[in-house]
Amino acid sequence: MKLSAQQVDQLVQSQGLKMTPQRRAIVDYLVASDLHPTAEEIFSLVNARFPMTSMATVYNTLNLLKQANLVQEIFENGISRFDPNLSRHYHFVCRACGRVEDIEAETALPVEQIAGHRVETMEVTFRGLCSQCTSGGFDATGAD
Ligand SMILES: [Zn+2]
Ligand SMILES: [Zn+2]
Repeated sequence: MKLSAQQVDQLVQSQGLKMTPQRRAIVDYLVASDLHPTAEEIFSLVNARFPMTSMATVYNTLNLLKQANLVQEIFENGISRFDPNLSRHYHFVCRACGRVEDIEAETALPVEQIAGHRVETMEVTFRGLCSQCTSGGFDATGAD
């Protein structure tokens, strides 16, 4: 399941907020992107279309979505990124170009409880070289 514009419409209405063109553009960009954008990336794209958009609007909208569990915030290399893919999935991070891709999780790990703790989220990250970087002539064996 992926974030949809309709879900956001309902959320915004239920919070007594208005769906502004800026909010709509933020959501559209998140839904269209598979690359887990940062708040800054979202800001620069939305701002290109709506030059009055503020960084605060981007953060407020992302927080709203996060609190409603419509996006996940993921931290990669100290940078926070936003993920509209609501299905259980893993991530692949390319060490050369830094892209963060979704990997479908075929088997669900039985992790509701570990050592008496209640597990609420789980992150699995694969690291290496993405298919583009592997074919693009990056040294697949050496360090950076
Ligand atoms: Zn890459
Ligand atoms: Zn993801």
